[in-house]
Amino acid sequence: FWNTILAEVENFLSPGAIERWLKPLKPVSFADNTFTLSADNEVIIQFFEKRYKDFTQDACKEACRKLEFTQDIQGEIAFVLEYRPAEKPVEKPKTKTIEVHEDNPQGSLDFGRTEESAARYESSFAKIAPGDASSLNPKYVFDNFVTGGFNRIAHAAALAVAKEPGKTYNPLFMYGGVGLGKTHLMHAIGHEVLKNDPTKRVLYITCEKFTNELINAIRDNSTEAFRQKYRHIDLLMVDDVQFLTKKIQTQEEFFHTFNALYQSNKAIVLSSDRPPHEIQTLEERLKSRFASGLLADIQVPDLETRIAILKKKAMLENLDVPNEALIYIAGRIDNNIRELEGALTRVVAYASLTGSRITTELVAESLKNIFPDNTTKEITLEIIREVVATHFKLNIDDLNSSKRNKNLAVPRQIAMYLCRELTDTSLPQIGEFFGGRDHTTVLHAYKKIAKDRTSNIQLDKTVQELIKSIEKM
Ligand code: ADP
Ligand code: MG
Repeated sequence: FWNTILAEVENFLSPGAIERWLKPLKPVSFADNTFTLSADNEVIIQFFEKRYKDFTQDACKEACRKLEFTQDIQGEIAFVLEYRPAEKPVEKPKTKTIEVHEDNPQGSLDFGRTEESAARYESSFAKIAPGDASSLNPKYVFDNFVTGGFNRIAHAAALAVAKEPGKTYNPLFMYGGVGLGKTHLMHAIGHEVLKNDPTKRVLYITCEKFTNELINAIRDNSTEAFRQKYRHIDLLMVDDVQFLTKKIQTQEEFFHTFNALYQSNKAIVLSSDRPPHEIQTLEERLKSRFASGLLADIQVPDLETRIAILKKKAMLENLDVPNEALIYIAGRIDNNIRELEGALTRVVAYASLTGSRITTELVAESLKNIFPDNTTKEITLEIIREVVATHFKLNIDDLNSSKRNKNLAVPRQIAMYLCRELTDTSLPQIGEFFGGRDHTTVLHAYKKIAKDRTSNIQLDKTVQELIKSIEKM
């Protein structure tokens, strides 16, 4: 009977997990709806209780049905585990060998072993591996994620879901253009949930994979097994749901899976390139289910944030890239963070190939295939503010703030002067841009710098340098 259960459990768990956590269990007795198993390792008992019991129970139900036991067995079968130390305790050498004992011909599994068992542990991505982060990209964590106005809501919601999965914002539906961080946030949620509780069952899956699995299940008449498998997930994340196929049956099955999880307060996170009501192929009831929690959109990041993202990447990769070069890249790639990263990588590779220092000229040179028209970019207030802030080693917030100390006031006046000088923007617009200042303040700054330039050689030199850098951007 136990072997039949083990065979059934293969529908839900990866072979590695079964091998490691279920095979070491030995059947002791089966009476009064209670199945007693024994293990000689307390860790296995704990893991069974926390992670594998419900899968085993489901597999057992299925086994009963197959063996036509259903007449004899009414109600739930309870699984009880007993700890039975191995009769002859054997010293476990810290090697990568599997010990084979007489009473355990398959070899008992040693928890000291790592890589080898880890590799076997998770064989298939789509199979649920509790506490296993192997389907998650280790780089996609919250720590590496830069936030700004453009993604604040999605980030905050993702953090909230990660903290208490299923409690808030269920489902969380994130949408936004390509390369803007949806997948990154999903993985980050997964990592965080597992960090807080390694026994949680987390599944990240692309919609394509999910759909394929569903189609196969429908074809093989095994939708029941499919449902069972997904029923016990604590956090299900389906990426790019705009690719859900139009097939009625697939959507129907997805609907049931969704409901089963939702009703048991399991967390669901979905992503798409557009909001649910704009996914034409989606059935009405799925649209409304998807929209029933929190809809969080991700916009495109502004220049300041794009620079911050590049800085973070440069720091993480230990790259030394001058700020001007980062401004140049960020000024040109404005709607896709993946491309932003790609450009940085390209620049760094180019510099190391040619053995040159990274300068704005080198950046322009190495990216000229990406921007073949070679048109100079329109000078914007954002670019000016960034270049000035970088030059004086200040933050944008400093320039926008109302603080009046001289080391902020002068750069701020210079920035406003340059905005007036190099763009067609009106005085009120410039004032608005620098922290909501009055247009008379801008005019005053403009006049002051214009006048001081004629007498202060140092100031004039600085302004000329700044103009040059800005025009290179
Ligand atoms: P999407 O799924 O929305 O198409 P991804 O999550 O795949 O986008 O992000 C594309 C790339 O940009 C990834 O390498 C990701 O790490 C990076 N990225 C996206 N958003 C951010 C961010 N806010 N901070 C840092 N890196 C980001
Ligand atoms: Mg994605």
